[in-house]
Amino acid sequence: MPLEKNLLSIVVPVYNEEESINETVNRLQKLRDNLAHEIDVELVFVDDGSKDGSLFYLRSVAEQNPNVKVISFSRNFGHQIAITAGIDLVEGDYVAVIDADLQDPPELIADMYRMALTGFDVVYGKRRSRAGETIFKKATAATFYRLLNYMCEIDIPPDTGDFRLMSRKVVESFKQLRERHRFVRGMVPWLGYRATPLEYDRAERFAGETKYPFRKMMAFAINAILSFSSKPLTMAIHFGLLTIFAGLAGGAYMLYLKFFTNTLVPGLTAVLLSIVLFSGVQILLIGVIGEYIARIFEEIKDRPLYLINETINL
Ligand code: UDP
Ligand code: MG
Repeated sequence: MPLEKNLLSIVVPVYNEEESINETVNRLQKLRDNLAHEIDVELVFVDDGSKDGSLFYLRSVAEQNPNVKVISFSRNFGHQIAITAGIDLVEGDYVAVIDADLQDPPELIADMYRMALTGFDVVYGKRRSRAGETIFKKATAATFYRLLNYMCEIDIPPDTGDFRLMSRKVVESFKQLRERHRFVRGMVPWLGYRATPLEYDRAERFAGETKYPFRKMMAFAINAILSFSSKPLTMAIHFGLLTIFAGLAGGAYMLYLKFFTNTLVPGLTAVLLSIVLFSGVQILLIGVIGEYIARIFEEIKDRPLYLINETINL
């Protein structure tokens, strides 16, 4: 009796990738052929509201290949949401996520799958190096992962991205996390289960430009911290306590001057400076609280995470 083969679903978020999508599809098709005797493979492209020819191209590929599937959004919802939609809708026993720009070599998914078979529920790509990225991007990325780990209760492995493979068990658990501000590479470690890294060298973008310019990268980083940690609020309290102690010490010193010496309390400058400084700090901390309230507001509206305009072969 022939055993039913497992299915591996490969989820690929796509946003304006017309310059690399053709090559990405080819490399993934090749990967599927190489894995054919071990596992069935389906390719699921999530078009995140591309404004270029990406969707048009994907549609034509899907028309000829029933195992190439397309989900297309009604507009751009963002990378993390696109990944989520893919994970939500595929049926594979294993699900891999890979970017469309070929920075993560598709061939490694075969290694990830084989590693998973040795008893792991998550195999995540860990970047040993990153080609073609500016020193600035590398430095900000390094700082970011370290800061994030300091801020969060769970361990998010440094230098990982969304390139990973998960078992059905992990996927089902992941699907239960419905928060809007999503940071997938932190949510998966939060789930637990047995995970292992697969080290690799990150390649240059095949073509086109990064969709994460500095502004978006900062937003991504701040979002990750705010949605994963309430430590900024705790830090605010610590800072408040510290200033209270400093104030008490200063007060004691002034009382001492008043009662036991003839010196008047000096320093109008010090008074003005501390007023200006601490008003700034207060406004900043109110802003931090505001960010959390904004998140509560976003979550409580309970809107769908994404809207699908069209699916092909799904
Ligand atoms: N992407 C997306 N929606 C977006 C931005 C990006 O689906 O709003 C996709 C993009 O097509 C790529 C992946 O997410 O497949 C990662 O984007 P990018 O390569 O620009 O990020 P970087 O590697 O520079 O961090
Ligand atoms: Mg990229």
